[in-house]
Amino acid sequence: MSNCIFCKIVAGEIPSTKVYEDEKVLGFKDLNPMAEVHNLFIHKDHTQDLNDLSDNKQDQLGDIFSAISKYSKESKLAEDGFRVVTNIGNNGGQTVFHTHFHVLGGQRLGGFGS
Ligand code: AMP
Ligand code: ZN
Repeated sequence: MSNCIFCKIVAGEIPSTKVYEDEKVLGFKDLNPMAEVHNLFIHKDHTQDLNDLSDNKQDQLGDIFSAISKYSKESKLAEDGFRVVTNIGNNGGQTVFHTHFHVLGGQRLGGFGS
């Protein structure tokens, strides 16, 4: 989508600090990190959110989660553990409407039962 900032990152029109890339998936550092390690993983092919992806391009889930898993092992994040989060819509706090998965780690994370 031409007005989507994450599509612009994929196209190289907006700079990003890449941490992972393959044919289909891009991982890059979040501009406003909420943890020692805070990356965003996206599919290069635009969808709006997890439900749009699930309805229309479900194969992307495997691409994205395989990439996150591979990255976590290569970066050693997997050794200490990490968290994957996706926000959907207003109550979820979604601000960028290109499906993305926050990959958080590098420290003991609070909330969610800890
Ligand atoms: P969400 O609130 O789940 O939609 O997350 C959007 C995330 O994108 C936020 O954590 C922002 O800090 C991050 N973000 C917005 N613009 C950029 C950018 N140009 N490069 C990297 N991260 C960004
Ligand atoms: Zn997009």
